[in-house]
Amino acid sequence: MSEQATINLINGLYIVAAVLFILGIKFLGSPRTARRGNALSALAMLIAVGVTLISEEIVEFEWIILGVVIGSVIGVILARTVQMTGMPQMVAVLNGFGGGGSALVAAAEFMRVNDLVRTGDLSAVSEDVAAIALFSTALGALTLTGSLVAFGKLQGLVTTRPLMLPARNIINALLGIAIIAISVYLVFEPNNPELYALVGILGALFGILLVIPIGGADMPVVISLLNSYSGVAAAATGFVLNNNILIVAGAVVGASGLILTRIMTKAMNRSLSNVMLGGFGAESSSSTGGPAPGERPYRSVTAEDAAMILGYSQSVIFVPGYGLAVAQAQHAVKELASLLQERGITVKYAIHPVAGRMPGHMNVLLAEADVPYDQLLDLDQSNPEFERTDVAVVIGANDVTNPAARTNPESPIYGMPILNVDKASQVIVLKRSMATGFSGIDNDLFYLDNTAMYFGDAKKSVQDLVSEVREIE
Ligand code: NDP
Repeated sequence: MSEQATINLINGLYIVAAVLFILGIKFLGSPRTARRGNALSALAMLIAVGVTLISEEIVEFEWIILGVVIGSVIGVILARTVQMTGMPQMVAVLNGFGGGGSALVAAAEFMRVNDLVRTGDLSAVSEDVAAIALFSTALGALTLTGSLVAFGKLQGLVTTRPLMLPARNIINALLGIAIIAISVYLVFEPNNPELYALVGILGALFGILLVIPIGGADMPVVISLLNSYSGVAAAATGFVLNNNILIVAGAVVGASGLILTRIMTKAMNRSLSNVMLGGFGAESSSSTGGPAPGERPYRSVTAEDAAMILGYSQSVIFVPGYGLAVAQAQHAVKELASLLQERGITVKYAIHPVAGRMPGHMNVLLAEADVPYDQLLDLDQSNPEFERTDVAVVIGANDVTNPAARTNPESPIYGMPILNVDKASQVIVLKRSMATGFSGIDNDLFYLDNTAMYFGDAKKSVQDLVSEVREIE
């Protein structure tokens, strides 16, 4: 095959992979087609990696096979052992490694080209390539350390409270200026490996300082933003390597991560700068002077009472939250729903965009329990429904149902779009205690006249409800 024909074939296969990536992302948009999306994206990655390895002639296959084996073993173990509740942490680590990988590849390429110049095989390092390699190194290192801090916060290894360093904005600004200044110098004087390493180190430090002041409740937004950064770093590395598919794949990740970040900040009614400047979730209502959670009067019910309310209703909406994921109550909820439907009761599920610790968290859990997709309502669909619903059953959800977001301008979550469960005729809240949710804010819903608290682990509570509903004539 002529050289031109080979290049055309490679680029043709890269286009196929790029189209599959984009279709994959599109299919991931709905639980119904998500598996197909995953498979298409995996196929695209296989084509991209295969074509690159064969075409580049740069590789010693022993190292690549070793890398593939080690990576696959770690990947399979993680995929099999990580709980659904641990997914956000896993995504954080994967993003971080993506960023770190891009930084290392860009740095290695920069050094390689630099060596060619030193040995006289190349006249000079192109300034464009040097600039992009430096950008990728700094951004990739930032993504790595930022993601590791996010992982630590979600896993409880690092405090979830925002850590506000004094003069942190000045320190961050100085750090940013230092990275840019050293990078500009390196573009014109590339033969400085120590300074190059310093760019990576400063980028890594920047990542830590950027994420440390952000509260645990905002970590999913941070992770999604870092995901976008890892894509941009990969695309930049694609330019350094002159590899089209890496540019396309990086751009797809960069853009989709940014869109997701936007969707999440909108669902929490916060601006990105408000999230990134940190501080949210630092104070609980008790420390701001209001009554401590559970100090106001509330009503609690037994499984039998709750089953009676449900069994004699005509319409029920389940509202799942993070606690449902922790308790793994999805199968029990599906069983309860089927039982209620057999009694002629209409059952739906209302899903808030940030319920759980990851967008789509609840959809995935309910899909796992074979809940029909047409019973799932998003925020806009569910809110008009609550007014005509007999019972809203809140299962391990908290912040996303707090009416203070609508009614109390003093509340830190004021303005956040919530599920208006309080508009249902009756509300049953399943949780273990009166404790606050992720944001650390007490929930006014628990103290309303039409709300009944039903305490216990969500799975056990729902299983008890199933038994009690079966008893009803
Ligand atoms: P929350 O964290 O607000 O509340 C979960 C509740 O579940 C807790 O109050 C807890 O109460 C209860 N719970 C925990 N374990 C169990 C169990 N085993 N059985 C029964 N109940 C249990 O979760 P939500 O889903 O309502 O809200 C999501 C939070 O995450 C919000 O603060 C949101 O802003 C934040 N967030 C989510 C993002 C996303 O993309 N998904 C993005 C950014 C932020 P108790 O301890 O009493 O049982």
